[in-house]
Amino acid sequence: MITQLYCNSLTKFSRYKTRVVTIGDVPLGGDNPIRIQSMTTTDTMDTIATVEQSIRMIDAGCEYVRITAPSIKEAKNLENIKKELRARGYTTPLIADIHFTPNAAELAARIVEKVRVNPGNYADKKKFESIDYTDNAYEIELERIRERFTPLVKICKEYGTAMRIGTNHGSLSDRILSRYGDTPLGMVESALEFLRICEDNNYYNIVLSMKASNTQVMVQAYRLLIQKMQQYGMSYPLHLGVTEAGEGEDGRIKSAVGIGTLLEDGIGDTVRVSLTEDPEFEIPVAKALVERYSNRASHKAIPEVQSSKFKVQENTGQLSTFQLPTFELPYSPYDYKRRETLEVINMGGHNVPRVIADFSGKQVITPASFFAVGYNYSVPLDKWNLTDQACDYIFVGDNKIDFQIPGTLGLIYNSAFWQNLENTTRCYPLFSDNEFFTTVKKSTELNFVSVDIDFLIQYFNSSTFQPFDNTVVFVFETSNEHGMAEQRRMFIELMNNNCKVPVIIKRNYSNLSEEKFQLHSSTDIGALFLDGFGDGIWINACQFEPFDFAQDKLNREQNNCTSPKNANATSFGILQATRNRISKTEYISCPSCGRTLFDLQETTAKIRNRTDHLKGVKIGIMGCIVNGPGEMADADYGYVGTGVGKITLYKGREVVERNIGSEKAVDALVDLIKKYGDWVEKE
Ligand code: SF4
Repeated sequence: MITQLYCNSLTKFSRYKTRVVTIGDVPLGGDNPIRIQSMTTTDTMDTIATVEQSIRMIDAGCEYVRITAPSIKEAKNLENIKKELRARGYTTPLIADIHFTPNAAELAARIVEKVRVNPGNYADKKKFESIDYTDNAYEIELERIRERFTPLVKICKEYGTAMRIGTNHGSLSDRILSRYGDTPLGMVESALEFLRICEDNNYYNIVLSMKASNTQVMVQAYRLLIQKMQQYGMSYPLHLGVTEAGEGEDGRIKSAVGIGTLLEDGIGDTVRVSLTEDPEFEIPVAKALVERYSNRASHKAIPEVQSSKFKVQENTGQLSTFQLPTFELPYSPYDYKRRETLEVINMGGHNVPRVIADFSGKQVITPASFFAVGYNYSVPLDKWNLTDQACDYIFVGDNKIDFQIPGTLGLIYNSAFWQNLENTTRCYPLFSDNEFFTTVKKSTELNFVSVDIDFLIQYFNSSTFQPFDNTVVFVFETSNEHGMAEQRRMFIELMNNNCKVPVIIKRNYSNLSEEKFQLHSSTDIGALFLDGFGDGIWINACQFEPFDFAQDKLNREQNNCTSPKNANATSFGILQATRNRISKTEYISCPSCGRTLFDLQETTAKIRNRTDHLKGVKIGIMGCIVNGPGEMADADYGYVGTGVGKITLYKGREVVERNIGSEKAVDALVDLIKKYGDWVEKE
C-alpha cells in the first residue's frame, strides 16, 4: 500500500524538523535539544511545597516545570510560586496545566511561560453520550468553542506565552467521540480544531501532544498527527508521553515502548515520563530515553526500502517545503495488524509471541536455575509448577541438560552440539544461516535459523538459495546502533517477498545499568511489536559465570546489565506493554498532581499487593474525578478519588459505588472484582 511516511526515513536516523517555539528562555523544536520535563504533585496552593518540589525536579535535570491550576485561586498562586523560585535563582519556565477552566487559563497565561490546554475538556462536556451531529450542528459547536478559546489565544499572543494543545485519549469530548470514535484520528482532529483557531489568530507559539495509556493508540496518533500536519503545511513541535504509565518496572517499560518508538524515528522535541512516583524520579528515565539519539545519525547504513514513488528531497530545514517521502509499504504504520506467519509448533500463526531465555553463558544449569524464568520444581510432589511468566524456550548453547525439564518448555542448542544429542525430545537446533544449508541432520519439527540483514537481502535477491521449509523459525540478529530500524527493514524484506516464516526478535545487551537495559530493550523490541512484527522475544543480557550472588551483584554494579529473572520479566513486560501477550495485572495509574485527593503511591502499592496475581485484569487508579474516569480509558475496574478520603469505584465506565471511605475502599474493590467473577485466589 502507498503510504505517506510520518518520519524522514524508516532506515536512516534523522530528526523530524519542527518549528521553534519560545518558552521563556528555553526554546523548543527545530535543532534544539529534546527537552526533559515533568509535573509537580503538590497542592498548588502550598507555595513552599510546590517551590521545593520544583527545585528537586530542576536539580534532577527538569527543563520545564508543569503545575496544575484547577481554578482561579491556584492560577493566582502561580505568581507566588514563580516569584519564590526566581528569588531562589531558578529561572526554569513554568507551565500551567488546565482542564475545564478557561478563566484559570486566561489568568495563568499572564503569569507563566506556557499553558497546557486539553481540547477534550476546554469547552466541551463529557458524559460518554453518543450524539448524532448534523454538519450544521457540528459547525455551531465549533463556533461556540472558537468563542470560548479565542480569548486565551489573544492573551498568549499578547504576553508571548506558549501553549500546548495536549490531547488525551481518555478525555476526548462526546462531540469528537460521536464523529470520530475513540481513535487516533479523533485525537488528531480534536487538536486540529484548536490549532485552526490559533492560526486564524496568527498565533503559532504552539506545541502538540497525543497521549494515551495504550501504547499502540499513542504511537499511531503521533504518526497520524505528523501525516496530517504535512497535509496542512504545519510542523509544530511534539511533546511525547504515555499517560498513566504506572510505577516501577511497568511504568518504565511502558514509557520506553511508547516514547522510545517515536524517538527511534526522530520524532519528539520534549519528553515527559509520567510515573506514579515522585516527579524527580521521572527525570533520569526521560534522560536515559533521550540521550540514546545524540550520536545515532552515524549508525551503520541500512539498505533503503525499495520502490519510492516520490523522489526524496534533501531536508533543507525549510519546514514548509519539506515533503515526507511516500512509500509502497507492506504494512501500515497507522493501524495495528500482526504480520501473517506460518505456525511452527507453538510459534507464529495465532500463537502469542514466545519468550526465550538465554542461559548460554551459564556453565552449570540445575533445576533451580529455572526458578528465575518462571519454573519452580517441587521435590515432594516431583513436579514442576509454572508461573504466568514462565518462558517458553531456553537457549542453553552447548550446555547439556541432563534432568527432566518442565512439560511446556523447549530447549535450544547450538546446532553442532544438537547433532550429538541422543534424545532430542523438545530439544531444537539453532543454525547460522550458512550452517542450515550445509547441515544434513535437522529437526523434523523446529529449526531456529539465525539471520541478519545482509543474508536476507542476498537470499531474496538470488536464485541459488533453496526455500526454507515450514520447520524454520528465523532469529533476527543485529549489531547496528539503529538496530530497531534494521530489524524492521528485515521484516519489510520478508513481507515484500511474501515470506511467512515466524521470527524471533533477538537483541544482545552489555555494559548497561539494569534500568538502561530495561529502557533500551523495551524501545528496541517494543517498537517492532507495536507494528505487528515478531513471534517471539530473545534477550541476551546476562553475565553468568559462575553464578553466585556476589558476582551477580558485582555484575549489576558494573553495569553488566541484568539477571535472568529480570531479563525474563522485561521480556514479558514488553509483550504486555505492546498488548501482544498478557501475563500479569495491568495498572493504569495516574502520576498524580495538585488535584490528587489521596496518597496515590501508597494506595497503588496497597492495591497492587492485593491484586497483582489477577492476570489480564486492568485496574485504573486515578487521583481525582475530574480527569480520572476518562484517563483510565479501557480499565476493567476503576478506583477514583472523589473527595478528601472518599473513593468511587467503577466497573468499566460505570460508577458502581460512590464515596466509600478510603480505609474500606481497597476491600470494596476486591469485593467488586469477586462480584464480577474476575477474582482468583493467590497461590
Ligand atoms: S487523574 Fe491524576 S494526574 Fe490526572 S488530573 Fe486527576 S489527579 Fe491529576
